[in-house]
Amino acid sequence: DLSDEYYEKEEKVLKSILSRKTIIDIIDFDNGISIAKGDITLFKVDVIVNACNSKLLGCFQPLHKCVDNAIHSFAGLKVRRDLMEIMDNQGHDEANGLCKVTKGYNLPSKYIFHTVGPIYNNLKQDAIDLRNCYYNSLKMADDMKLESIAFPSISTGIFGYPIEKASEIAINTAKEYLEKENKNLKRIVFVLFSEGDYSVYERRINKAY
Ligand code: ADP
Repeated sequence: DLSDEYYEKEEKVLKSILSRKTIIDIIDFDNGISIAKGDITLFKVDVIVNACNSKLLGCFQPLHKCVDNAIHSFAGLKVRRDLMEIMDNQGHDEANGLCKVTKGYNLPSKYIFHTVGPIYNNLKQDAIDLRNCYYNSLKMADDMKLESIAFPSISTGIFGYPIEKASEIAINTAKEYLEKENKNLKRIVFVLFSEGDYSVYERRINKAY
């Protein structure tokens, strides 16, 4: 029942997503952490992480410029097919902080981890859940003997987590993981989509080291 106007608007958004930003800047810190500005779907790493809702089946709102939409658009329909099977077998929504793996299919990366970030309510649990997104992804990558992983800024878009607080959790979790538990990971990349988010991460990393 959707109007022509709706489809025209949708096409416009899809085209703007399709003219993807290339990776403009990347800084490698000597501890294995990097920050990059650009589109995570262009990254060639062992695994990229997707920021999902608890259904794990994609965003289903074609006009949203969220990372979930970008990843599903460029990885292809097999990702949703695989996730439907995984979620059918599980029989319930995915809890915050946990993740499931699919292949990367049409993406340059081998795998995608689909994790559920918290919707920000300014509660203590939000920080625990966000930390778990990073921790569980790092642990799973390490257990799978992968060497490189790229994260978007989980929960700081539609889910409303303030970037200052979220970046602290992201960087500290990665730093701690590398220092205390790491066996196989060589590179952790934080991919930021805006200039503003990128400079928050840059400042935060310089403070942490
Ligand atoms: P959430 O629902 O977890 O908040 P969003 O996708 O709304 O997820 O936002 C998370 C972050 O991902 C935001 O900073 C957004 O700008 C960013 N983002 C959106 N598209 C991409 C992309 N293609 N590559 C990297 N980051 C992206």
